[in-house]
Amino acid sequence: MDHVLFAESALTPDGVLGPYWLRIAAGRIAEAGHGRPPQLPDEYVKDAVIAPGFVDVHAHGGGGAAFTDGAVSGRSALLAHRLMGTTTMLASLVSAPVSVILEQAAELSSLVDSGELAGVHLEGPWLSPDHRGAHEAEVLSAPTFDAVSALLEHPARNLIRYVTLAPERNGALEAIQRMRSAGSTLGIGHTGASCAQTREAIAAGASAATHLFNAMKGLHHRDPGAALALLEDPTAFLELISDGVHLDAEMIRFVWDSATRNGGPQRPVLVSDAMPGAAAPDGRYRLGAVDVEVLGGVARRVTSDGSLGAIAGSTLTLSAAVRESILRAGIDPAQALMAATANPASMIGLEDVGRLLPGGRADLVLLDPEWQVRRVMYRGRWLDQRSSGASQTDGPAD
Ligand SMILES: [Zn+2]
Repeated sequence: MDHVLFAESALTPDGVLGPYWLRIAAGRIAEAGHGRPPQLPDEYVKDAVIAPGFVDVHAHGGGGAAFTDGAVSGRSALLAHRLMGTTTMLASLVSAPVSVILEQAAELSSLVDSGELAGVHLEGPWLSPDHRGAHEAEVLSAPTFDAVSALLEHPARNLIRYVTLAPERNGALEAIQRMRSAGSTLGIGHTGASCAQTREAIAAGASAATHLFNAMKGLHHRDPGAALALLEDPTAFLELISDGVHLDAEMIRFVWDSATRNGGPQRPVLVSDAMPGAAAPDGRYRLGAVDVEVLGGVARRVTSDGSLGAIAGSTLTLSAAVRESILRAGIDPAQALMAATANPASMIGLEDVGRLLPGGRADLVLLDPEWQVRRVMYRGRWLDQRSSGASQTDGPAD
């Protein structure tokens, strides 16, 4: 059944908020246009903003479930995020031996085949031991020719859309070239690379910063590391964990200003880096082989003596990242929404999500004036929201 929706304010494909209409049929956007629709709309949205469903390219789990635990857990994590407005996700897998990671990826293939999951993100194991964050030191390794071949020859290789590595590890440049040629997006992260090493990695085909500033050197005046090279490259996408814990709101604003002036507003990419405790209560969770304790919404690794160590992912959802960016860091709302939709879709080469264009998936979020997600449309159908603060109405928002 066709369904025409008109919003007085929607994130248009030009990256601005304005009046926009959509005709939705069979889970897709059949037609779309600026201004008022040619026919009377079935649904009229005012006093709220319509945006594409959020696209999260870096998340390990949510709703108490982890992507490392197979398709059933993976589906629970996807659902938890979906109810908060994230309709497209990559499953991020933490460092483990390559053979183990490939098995974990293969376990998720049914979710990719059904279109629920956009693919897999390998965060490691080719990371720097000195910047490992919550990753286990013993499983970190160099991207040798054979290790990359094992990945490229594995049946799960087509699931892998995004790989994070540290460019200073032996073999990294060749690994970047080979995986880029095979169609993956390469991100630089968990790294102690110098500025020059990072520029070489970008020249070899890396195109993204994995959680910029977290688990890499800061902007030191005598030792500008990966962050400077990534900020300065006008084409690099910049993942930001905008949760008020991983990055100060002032830093979000600084990165946004500098990326937008040097390249454009398509560069910032909001990510959750969510662990299973996202969209779930405080408590003890597992992330790969690591125990993580969530206290007051902050996730920390549990060390061998039982004390709390490094920050281990976040309990963020993209809807909260959008709010933090707009309300605390002062980012232009349309740009913050782009960083949760069109920008991540471009980063990993997805064309039918992240923009309200004909042919795209009819995935929408409806945001109230405080930028809270009030309703979520997934594949053309409004989802029932969980009771907390979400509207239960089935009729038009007007
Ligand atoms: Zn990380």
